[in-house]
Amino acid sequence: MDHLPLFLDLRDRTIALVGGGEVALRKARLLHSAGARLRVIAPHVSAEFAHWLQQQQIELRQEPFTAAALDGAALAVAATDDAVVNRAVAAAGRARNIFVNVVDDGSAGDCLMPAIVDRSPLIVAIGTGGGSPTVARRVRAQIEALLPQSLGALVSAAARWRSRVREAVPELPQRRRFWERWFDRASALDPAVTANVASLDALLQRALQEAGASGDNLRGEVWLIGAGPGDPDLLTLRAQQLLQQCDVLLYDRLVSTAVLERVRRDAERVYVGKESGRHRVTQARIHELLLEYAGRGLRVARLKGGDPFVFARGGEELEVLAAAGIPVTVVPGVTAALGAAAVAGIPLTHRAVSQSVTFVTAMGEAAEQLDWRALAAPLQTTVFYMGVAQLQRIVTRLREHGAPADRPVALVERATLPGQRIVAGTLEDIGARALAAGVAAPALLIVGEVASHANAHRNGRELATDESEA
Ligand code: SAH
Repeated sequence: MDHLPLFLDLRDRTIALVGGGEVALRKARLLHSAGARLRVIAPHVSAEFAHWLQQQQIELRQEPFTAAALDGAALAVAATDDAVVNRAVAAAGRARNIFVNVVDDGSAGDCLMPAIVDRSPLIVAIGTGGGSPTVARRVRAQIEALLPQSLGALVSAAARWRSRVREAVPELPQRRRFWERWFDRASALDPAVTANVASLDALLQRALQEAGASGDNLRGEVWLIGAGPGDPDLLTLRAQQLLQQCDVLLYDRLVSTAVLERVRRDAERVYVGKESGRHRVTQARIHELLLEYAGRGLRVARLKGGDPFVFARGGEELEVLAAAGIPVTVVPGVTAALGAAAVAGIPLTHRAVSQSVTFVTAMGEAAEQLDWRALAAPLQTTVFYMGVAQLQRIVTRLREHGAPADRPVALVERATLPGQRIVAGTLEDIGARALAAGVAAPALLIVGEVASHANAHRNGRELATDESEA
């Protein structure tokens, strides 16, 4: 290990910052936010920097660097664009036995500034020994995505409660388990709750009471999570975080294998796809399973394709669980219509041609109750879910209710998944085109003027574009 990561308490320590440009200003902001007493040394300071220094009432020595500028400093930062000056700062620091960070050239000084993920009081510092700031930034981006914004507030709460929890749960293994469970649960909390100290404290109080009352048997809960249309990169950050924490996963047919790969390896997986051939899992059975797993104190991820509240019976599951007093968190997902519109290049609303968009399911009996006249009207977009088998019926109904034969439509099959295809046409010819292309589920039908934009951004190709070959 070439460098030891250290977290410095800089409050009321003098830091000498040499430089007056943009880079120096960035460092000045960082050091100031860490509570350092700054001394800025530079013959010329940018207008922005000068303004900031004045606002913060920070000492500025507007003069060329001399070794004496480091007197009394705990640390020096060289942030000029002049390698000679930077080296002089490093030499002066060495002579005075204080650490120097040379911003542009780590090897010239003797300490490095890490890339930072800040969820204060939780801080992650990333360094590559100056080898590759790009890698440091990429690792930071990955960690940023993994750590919920609320984590800082949760760590602060843990600090407030540490001694009380130690008293209430004196045995170390139980205490560890208490905290593990608490953080698992807390990271699923609504940001509005975690932002509020009083409500967070109330929750911790309750968790502690429960832990005392039930020993190890803490209550389970259910996370109703939208998996998006298929591409795992379209999962929300919260979905990913919770999928990494669940004990049990209940998932549907429409959840893609690529998404399943993002689920915690040792979670128990239960397939509850309703169209699973001989072993039909009914909605009632799914309710039973949810109640059973949560009742055993497990954290259950109920993962559904797209969004859990769009044609997914998430509402029913929520009601059943709420009635049983089981906590439920709903995590939205990118619904198929949005995924399909994005890959097909079809804006669902568009100036002058579509002022509204309607999501419709054309399945079964319910389809007959739809207001077909309204759906056939111009200046709007209609997206039909579960449309493939119903295609002919949809076309017929729309035509019967006044939609013109040349109204543009697009079928999007397996949106965002391997083998994705887009078949565009009009109400008149889409049936034949779909047949010729052999479009199969899952697919949805987009009806409206906007459908004529299908893949306009890709050389106007309009028939059977296979993304997996693109
Ligand atoms: N809750 C889901 C919808 C479930 S209904 C959501 O919000 O997306 C199932 C229907 O969604 C399918 O029949 C199909 O019409 C549509 N669908 C789901 N995933 C799709 C995909 N990747 N491409 C095209 N259509 C899809």
